[in-house]
Amino acid sequence: MGKDVRKPAIFAQKSEMRIFKFGGASVKDAKAVENVGKILKRYEDEPLVVVVSAMGKSTNALEGIMEHFASGDVANAMKSIDDLLLFHTTIINELFGKNSNGIHDEIGTFFDELRDRCSQHFDGNYDFQYDQIISYGEVISTKIISAYLNLNQFKSEWVDAREVVRTNNRWREGRVDWDITKSLIDKKLTPLFNEGKMIAVTQGFLGHNSDGSTTTLGREGSDFTASIFAYCLDAKDVTIWKDVPGMLNADPKYFDNTVLLEKISFKEAIELAYFGASVIHPKTIQPLKRKKIPLHIKSFVHPDKKGSIIQESLAFDQHIPSFIFKMDQILISLTPKDFSFIVEENLERIFGYLNARKIRVNLMQNSAVSFSFVIDNSKVNLERLVEFFQTDYLVKYNEHLELVTIRHYDDPTIDRVTIGKRVILEQKSRETARMVIKNIV
Ligand code: ASP
Ligand code: MG
Repeated sequence: MGKDVRKPAIFAQKSEMRIFKFGGASVKDAKAVENVGKILKRYEDEPLVVVVSAMGKSTNALEGIMEHFASGDVANAMKSIDDLLLFHTTIINELFGKNSNGIHDEIGTFFDELRDRCSQHFDGNYDFQYDQIISYGEVISTKIISAYLNLNQFKSEWVDAREVVRTNNRWREGRVDWDITKSLIDKKLTPLFNEGKMIAVTQGFLGHNSDGSTTTLGREGSDFTASIFAYCLDAKDVTIWKDVPGMLNADPKYFDNTVLLEKISFKEAIELAYFGASVIHPKTIQPLKRKKIPLHIKSFVHPDKKGSIIQESLAFDQHIPSFIFKMDQILISLTPKDFSFIVEENLERIFGYLNARKIRVNLMQNSAVSFSFVIDNSKVNLERLVEFFQTDYLVKYNEHLELVTIRHYDDPTIDRVTIGKRVILEQKSRETARMVIKNIV
């Protein structure tokens, strides 16, 4: 008899846990929170981790407060804090009516802490302070939502993501320590669900470092949090609830007749997200892909509709052209003044500068004697960048550009975005065309 060389198949043990993520727009007012409650009712008998962002545009408001604080403008910091409190108070009153005393008190304490922090002398440690201040948005929103769910007889519990998501010390863009995070999440959540809780409500975007200080994962990082919990819990699936029907082949802001990508592979979705399709944060997909955890993107307005599903198989990728636009871009070209070539030493300096300022390069190109890169105008202080590089490089830049990426391009799709415009730079691979474009005025 021949030896059986087949090895036993080892499958990761999937738990029954499902992960839901609700972004700022899905909790932007009392009606929206009630809608979240209605959606959760449909899944009442399933164990859920519900990851929630700050309400509406609260994170932007907190960034404004941080700016006032850092510039020593206490009066305006206090005024903006009052506005943010009023925004949340209005939501609480509508949601809780006469049952609102407890939650008002709880939220009030966070606003007192925020006022205290912003009344102190600014120590110059901008990025550290940023994380401490900005994190209030998610803490407050999850407190309100958890209390609202408990008022409505859900078996839910508030979980502090700042205690279970471990990152390094990189403020504003913490890197996850997966092993520690997994063990902290297990330790916290297993007893909860064993006790019969069905929903753990937690904050997107937040973590902590080994000192216990709050860190954040980068703007729009709540999707990534959903993926962190899914990975650590071997979840059954993840659902991101959005104000769009799913993953579309273009942003409806710029295009009519968009097509819903109903079922696509992780591989395709990573490409789309990486090039800037804003429907999911690019960091979200890889941990899910690693464990083959499917990701649903569904509309919180039409929860009955199927939406998109992102999963392992490539068999369903339709290869219809997808368009991704990035507006207000700057193209910068650096040429060494000392006639040196663009090699490791120059690149190290250039990337060192960008990395230290957390400036993301959207596209780059180099020749023997120059290096060009495209970045978001809103993320950079151009004057300072030029000043920095001018000592060693001839610096040229071109503003007010668009960066267009077409996945599965062909000639007509390229014409569609370039006709009547000037193409300044172009990169093509087999599946992807990327163009930096200037409008001719
Ligand atoms: N509230 C954070 C932000 O707006 C995180 C998120 O929404 O994903 O960036
Ligand atoms: Mg947000």
